[in-house]
Amino acid sequence: MAQWLGRHGLTAGTCAALLRATVPPTVLPPLRAGNAPVIPDGPAIWACLPDALAGQLPMLRAEIARTARQTTVVFDPGGTRHPVALTLVDVPPAGGGQGGPLVVCPTDGTVTDVLALAHEFGHALNHVAAGAQPIQPPMTREVCAFACEALILRGLPTPLSDAAQALRLRHGARYLGAGRRRLLTALTTPGAPYDYGWNYPLAWGLARALIRPAALPLLADLLAARVTLAGVVDALPPDAMPQDG
Ligand SMILES: [Zn+2]
Repeated sequence: MAQWLGRHGLTAGTCAALLRATVPPTVLPPLRAGNAPVIPDGPAIWACLPDALAGQLPMLRAEIARTARQTTVVFDPGGTRHPVALTLVDVPPAGGGQGGPLVVCPTDGTVTDVLALAHEFGHALNHVAAGAQPIQPPMTREVCAFACEALILRGLPTPLSDAAQALRLRHGARYLGAGRRRLLTALTTPGAPYDYGWNYPLAWGLARALIRPAALPLLADLLAARVTLAGVVDALPPDAMPQDG
């Protein structure tokens, strides 16, 4: 735990205080409301993501276009080979990439595909925008991916964006419910074994704070590794965390 906190420049007290100040989403729109969206296949979803994100984050328009060009995506309809979505970086042609990010994503024709691909696009953008900077620690990377997925949903047409947003808020409720309780327990349990799930609760809350219009330049700096996670925590206004939705 101490090592994980140290990598992010946080103390247990800061982490716990930020977690306690973060309100889980309380208004969860129904997963199926109004017109059911037509879910495009994986390549068609991926093709929409750069414009959707560039419209929301114009200060990184060039990096977003470069990410679209440099990223190789392996779609896995039915999820038969790859049970979880992930983004690998600096993958050479011998490994199936083109020297940049390689996104591997199971797809099943549901709205989950939209959220998963938007999240992985965020990871890929973070890597491309950060350039030669050292790889950021895991919670920092998850902040970037959560923020990008939320911004991308804003830029997608309805009813697709509404359906994906309803799913996103459910994920947030889970991260800030059971996930947050587990992390708070681990913060006070000496020797608690590292769990990648520790990265999600606070990352979700920080991402939600960073997608507010006034915070977008700070988000762009984090994506490009021009600021650390601790720097973001210091720069956010005191009322940034306790918000709903
Ligand atoms: Zn992620």
